Amino acid sequence: PAHGELVLEVEAIRKQFGGLVAVNDISFQIRAGQIVGLIGPNGAGKSTTFNLITGLLSLSGGGVRFRGETISGLPSRQIARRGISHTFQHVKMIPDMTVLENVALGAHLRGHRGALSAMLRLDRAEEQQLFKEAQRQLERVGLGDALHELAGNLAMGPQRLLEIARALCGNPALLLLDEPAAGLRHKEKEALAGVLRQLRSEGMSILLVEHDMGLVMDVCDRLVVMEFGTHLMEGTPAEVQQSPQVRAAYLGT
Ligand code: ADP
Ligand code: MG
Repeated sequence: PAHGELVLEVEAIRKQFGGLVAVNDISFQIRAGQIVGLIGPNGAGKSTTFNLITGLLSLSGGGVRFRGETISGLPSRQIARRGISHTFQHVKMIPDMTVLENVALGAHLRGHRGALSAMLRLDRAEEQQLFKEAQRQLERVGLGDALHELAGNLAMGPQRLLEIARALCGNPALLLLDEPAAGLRHKEKEALAGVLRQLRSEGMSILLVEHDMGLVMDVCDRLVVMEFGTHLMEGTPAEVQQSPQVRAAYLGT
């Protein structure tokens, strides 16, 4: 997408779990080359919003458009194929496989229905293509020196970067990250921030669900603040930091 083009339009989405309205009329937009942070206290509805966009949960109301086309209602696999990629809140990788193999496998599973056995049926050229793409994405996130290490030996920071590399395979236009900084050390957070800024400079759009306010304030262009499933406010990091409503939601003052 051209810089500044509307990539994601979330329009009054709603999710009800029995009697609980977890997401209530949430709307926001993300443009090409923009990092939007979705923040709010625990239970605010951030992960539910995330899962409504990826199609992992079905909407109770509202709609989602990606690059001008309605994607709400599509199966999550089709949404992924159109160019929306995501990482999970909890890292999922195979510890006994190398970093490169983990990303290649992830890239393969993203585009195909089959499981591990499908990868064994790949011909040599397809397999090489997959590994080449995995290597390219690992280099993009700064893990070019760790290709042949066992994934299980990686520290938390590089594990998160591995997840991001996997999500980047297939060139998505929008990356959704759910708490990528959770449990990271200061230096690892800085490395993560550097990767996110680099991706943005390449035109990637990112939705960042994150608790770490330092990271959020540091890298986001805009913030959407949720509380009890509702849209509390939206603005630049500076505007949000100065908002009495937001201070009240976070600090109870
Ligand atoms: P956040 O990510 O902001 O911490 P969530 O989106 O995970 O919040 O949760 C929002 C609310 O919805 C919470 O009250 C949570 O308990 C509830 N919730 C989330 N997922 C489900 C589910 N599958 N079934 C029932 N309630 C859920
Ligand atoms: Mg969550």
